[in-house]
Amino acid sequence: MTQSFHPPQRTLMGPGPSDVNPRILEALSRPTIGHLDPAFIAMMDEVKGLLQFAFQTENELTFPVSAPGSAGMETVFVNLLEPGDKVVICQNGVFGGRMKENVERCGAQAIMVEDEWGATVDIDKAEQALADNPDAKALAFVHAETSTGARSDAQALCALAQKYDCLSIVDAVTSLGGIELDVDGWGIDAIYSGTQKCLSCVPGISPVSFSDRAANVIRSRKHKVQSWFLDLNLVMGYWGSDNKRSYHHTAPVNSLYALHESLVILQEEGLEAAWQRHALNHAAFAAGIEALGLSFVVAEEFRLPQLNAVRFPDTVDDGAVRTRLLNDYNLEIGAGLGALAGKVWRIGLMGYASNPQNVYNCLSALGNVLSSMDVKVNVSAAIAAAEGVYSS
Ligand SMILES: *Cc1c(COP(=O)(O)O)cnc(C)c1O
Repeated sequence: MTQSFHPPQRTLMGPGPSDVNPRILEALSRPTIGHLDPAFIAMMDEVKGLLQFAFQTENELTFPVSAPGSAGMETVFVNLLEPGDKVVICQNGVFGGRMKENVERCGAQAIMVEDEWGATVDIDKAEQALADNPDAKALAFVHAETSTGARSDAQALCALAQKYDCLSIVDAVTSLGGIELDVDGWGIDAIYSGTQKCLSCVPGISPVSFSDRAANVIRSRKHKVQSWFLDLNLVMGYWGSDNKRSYHHTAPVNSLYALHESLVILQEEGLEAAWQRHALNHAAFAAGIEALGLSFVVAEEFRLPQLNAVRFPDTVDDGAVRTRLLNDYNLEIGAGLGALAGKVWRIGLMGYASNPQNVYNCLSALGNVLSSMDVKVNVSAAIAAAEGVYSS
């Protein structure tokens, strides 16, 4: 007979999922109730308010899509675009490429603005593309490129979109909860995120938010949204603010308890405090990584504190190092993706996992494994460098 599944206890320091706070796992295991139960609907209202807090927005159309970040991405594109529309997409990693796929599947045209992997999105090139394409409906970009660890200037890009009378579409899957994000302050029109990165919640839910301007674009569409499940005109019958909530699909009830708890935790800590914690643990980790003789892909000013893309010497067997970390230290770090495959590790310090203990454990585990493979590294210097950052 097949036995119950008991996963190993890992420390998750990859590109997501990140370690889930035990408080969130406990919330997940509370009794399932009906998705139209008045008690559940009251909790849904709280989730919406908490998401408005996390996104820093008063957008009425703010709710969690019942599917992972990729579905949040698709929700934004299928609802805002119609066949024949044009979208300028800034790509500096894997996820901008997925935006292109989404745009083309909507029958719309993607104008690509490409930057190097590891670079930030170039504002001047984005502006040139908007000037060359005055009929573009939207400017889309990834705030925190998880494939490279680069942060782009979302505020400046949204200001550009406004200047050229375009909607701004922002991928904030890895940024929400980890670095500054201000939906109303920056004038973001459509944004999607994920639960399993800096919110340290279980995977499978995608918070989204739309400005009134974007909501009006959705309401005044000429064609039906191509996806029945993601059509916000229908989903709003369930998540909308009128009191007649009606069945659309069965909400992932327990996962929404988990999201609620993760947002309560974020509210208790405070947004700024959460951003500062990510910044401090990154600084300590980066000092340690450099003391080990390893280097970062991204220039210091554009680095994401929650996702460290670290180059390793050519002689190192990438897969063997990650296997040793997993088997001997129960530590998961991520491999490189796309153009950076086989060249970097992606080491996450996201949400609950962004803490000094993980910084020290990862530096010593990585240092020990490299040492055992005859790479010359000084593990105690790395620990001392991280300690130096915490004590200064
Ligand atoms: C993880 C990620 C996604 C996809 O989210 P899933 O929950 O894996 O579907 C999209 N964009 C970025 C930037 C991500 O890091």
